[in-house]
Amino acid sequence: MKLFKKPLSQQIVEQALAPVVSTSRIHGISITKNQVSLILEADTALSQEENETQRRQCINHLLNLGQIKEAKIALTAAKGSLPQDKQTPPAGKTAPKPPTPRHVPHIRHVIAVGSGKGGVGKSTVSVNLATALARSGLSVGLADGDILGPSLARMMGITQEPEVENQQMIPPSHHGVKCLSMGAILGENVPVVWRGPMVTKALQQLVFGAKWGSETQPLDVLVLDLPPGTGDIQLTMVQNITLSGVVLVSTPQQVALMDVKKAHTMFNKVEVPVLGIVENMAGIQQADGSLQPVFGASGKEGNIAHYAAETHIPFLGSLPLDGALSTAGDAGSPLKEGQLTDIFDDIALEIRQKLALN
Ligand code: ADP
Repeated sequence: MKLFKKPLSQQIVEQALAPVVSTSRIHGISITKNQVSLILEADTALSQEENETQRRQCINHLLNLGQIKEAKIALTAAKGSLPQDKQTPPAGKTAPKPPTPRHVPHIRHVIAVGSGKGGVGKSTVSVNLATALARSGLSVGLADGDILGPSLARMMGITQEPEVENQQMIPPSHHGVKCLSMGAILGENVPVVWRGPMVTKALQQLVFGAKWGSETQPLDVLVLDLPPGTGDIQLTMVQNITLSGVVLVSTPQQVALMDVKKAHTMFNKVEVPVLGIVENMAGIQQADGSLQPVFGASGKEGNIAHYAAETHIPFLGSLPLDGALSTAGDAGSPLKEGQLTDIFDDIALEIRQKLALN
């Protein structure tokens, strides 16, 4: 008689993991035909190595069910384990004090790349800006904060999990840039339930829980690809990490501009300087190098370049709508020399000057 196994369910996954970890530490179980992914909240009573051992045991238990090819488990900081959790709320009814940004050890500058809207090319700019900064001779890291749709892992061709040494993740180098992405830890199928405080904790773990540099060889710049938008996740991120500045990315459309204004307001509120704006998908490059606008002429009222001039935000440059950018991204590599790299080299140079990294 042929035996049919019950299809995998959240309950079966939790039962399979029960001998290793308590169900309360398991979040965001996502089940597809061949894969289970979930988030495991780290146990503060255990060392990073012990937590890592548990994570691997959980993966084995899931694979032993014999119904999936892959099990992906991301370990996140436990509730109460991060410094901001330990802040005591002020007496009375006053609103809780915003957290004090913490300096990331052994990194000279953390710069964020943000956008009000998703899909405007924030990750594309992050990847190519990071590689341009590295080309200019700086030591550079790239952290994928875009946890709800991580694409940096794909764009940089990251497939392996980072090593862990002395309780710190070691960011592997890809194309001359040290990279860490939640996508590398969990794959691209991040469960949508993974939101709010869990995201901010995990993001901080990416930045603070990794060995980006050392005392003798600090990293010059960490480029942090922020999640799109201006909600609580973004605000908490920028309130918790000392940022040297932010690069805003927008397309020329009015709807994108409205969201950039919100992002600008948010960064002003937390006193993070805006290093400049990059206009993406500005038009189609003509043979003479000029741009034929697709979404409206650059510099006109209601356009991002106009807004930059009006608000005295440095305008760092315009990128054309170009298949080279999406093809390179899909192929897991940044642009090749000559493919718009000069535009990114100019942007990198301006950022170096603003950070006094000459
Ligand atoms: P975001 O990070 O803002 O969500 P992405 O960088 O992931 O946006 O870009 C969204 C998609 O658009 C990707 O497939 C990317 O390759 C493509 N893309 C971004 N900028 C350009 C461009 N200037 N020309 C052509 N394709 C682009």
